[in-house]
Amino acid sequence: MARKAAEHAIVLGAGVSGLLAARVLADRYDRVTLVERDALGEDTPRRGVPQGFHAHALLPRGLRILEELFPGLTGELVAGGAVPYEMIVQLRMIMGGHEFARMPTGEKGVSATRPFLESHILRRVRRLPNLVTADRSQVTGIMAEGDRVTGARIAGDGGERELPADLVVDAMGRGGRTLAWLESMGYERPEEETVKVEVAYATWYLRLAAGALGEDRMILVGTYRGQPKGAALCAVEGDRWLVTLGGSAGMRPPTDPEGFFAWLDEVAPADVAAAVRAAEPLGEIGSARIPTSVRRRYERLGRFPEGLLVTGDAICNFNPIYGQGMSIGALDALAMRECLRGGADGLARRYFAAVARALDPAWQLSTGADLALREAEAERTLRVRLLNAYIGRLQRVAARDPRVAVAFSRVSGLLDPPSALMRPAVVWRAVRG
Ligand SMILES: Cc1cc2nc3c(=O)[nH]c(=O)nc-3n(C[C@H](O)[C@H](O)[C@H](O)COP(=O)(O)OP(=O)(O)OC[C@H]3O[C@@H](n4cnc5c(N)ncnc54)[C@H](O)[C@@H]3O)c2cc1C
Repeated sequence: MARKAAEHAIVLGAGVSGLLAARVLADRYDRVTLVERDALGEDTPRRGVPQGFHAHALLPRGLRILEELFPGLTGELVAGGAVPYEMIVQLRMIMGGHEFARMPTGEKGVSATRPFLESHILRRVRRLPNLVTADRSQVTGIMAEGDRVTGARIAGDGGERELPADLVVDAMGRGGRTLAWLESMGYERPEEETVKVEVAYATWYLRLAAGALGEDRMILVGTYRGQPKGAALCAVEGDRWLVTLGGSAGMRPPTDPEGFFAWLDEVAPADVAAAVRAAEPLGEIGSARIPTSVRRRYERLGRFPEGLLVTGDAICNFNPIYGQGMSIGALDALAMRECLRGGADGLARRYFAAVARALDPAWQLSTGADLALREAEAERTLRVRLLNAYIGRLQRVAARDPRVAVAFSRVSGLLDPPSALMRPAVVWRAVRG
């Protein structure tokens, strides 16, 4: 067991990023308290995570990190009903309008709903002997002395109380409070990079006829320039399929059954659209809208309070169509673990620098693709235009060349950096193809 850094750490927010932060903090602190305003423990969507209703693909990199932090978790998910699949044999990718060729890669994936995944992680976190959860507790403020954060204020059934701590981690998602807290303590706010994405989702849970989609377990239809309509179909626990339509650049998917089917007729292969038309609906169609992707540049701040860190969506939230968010929360947790090993000195500075390095490839991938979708040429630099032309070519070639499809899926799965697509072997195949 590693040496404990200090007595008490508190994590504010029990989304995926908060759960993973709590996991790594439990190795370094005597006690960890996980604070959450919702009631925890059910594997149904909860108020604090409304996005949990919609498709939540876990990228291969995210799954690997989860398995590292919670050995055996993949097996537990599958035993509980999550759907295992083999990359990219049972993953059907249609990107840039091209259906990718497939071949075995040895990489496994697991498909489940977000509440199911989160509840399984929570179960493992709750087994940590030095961790307590304080759910139904709203974070109302922070405690500070000089340049040091000393705890948080939380309000629950018994009224408001103070929770002193040596370290406070803001894992409260897009609405994270650190910006306001920094201001109230006399610190500057971090620079924000904002990319307009105007994404809208419509999601329907369905029961498909057995074998209706053969061996396919996940089908991803990406949006691209000229086609802002996409879709994700995932086999999930409970013998169900979760079908999410995604519209980019202001395109909103319909929430009525006929409109839903018509969208799939337009973007999905005919067998997929037919299987969905013939399926048994399990409830209503739900919708969501995501206007922007935002990255907060904490690593560029000259001053930051001691005793405070931020993780997950509270640092950077992405266009969800690339499925990166939970895996980024996992990368943040690894950065936290690594930096905690170096002690408390300069922890925030080292941590935010490590997070920035981990975030860069994912941010580059998603914002590059987002800018490609937008009509205004002025928003796109020459570099972005060249890169997107090359990606378009790779996607065409991937329809015939499974090795290019594998290279592409490894980069979008965050297993390899985007530069892997520039390796001579890939460039050669793209040029020859
Ligand atoms: C529509 C949509 C689809 C998505 N699809 C994917 C996908 O396919 N794959 C993927 O990896 N990611 C996806 N994401 C992103 C993913 O949901 C997040 O990146 C991921 O959940 C990590 O977020 P988080 O834990 O940082 O924050 P959140 O999941 O938002 O969790 C924040 C937690 O903090 C709690 N909280 C907030 N304020 C307070 C307070 N004052 N007091 C107490 N508790 C508080 C909330 O209740 C919540 O539990 C999607 C996002 C959206 C919006």
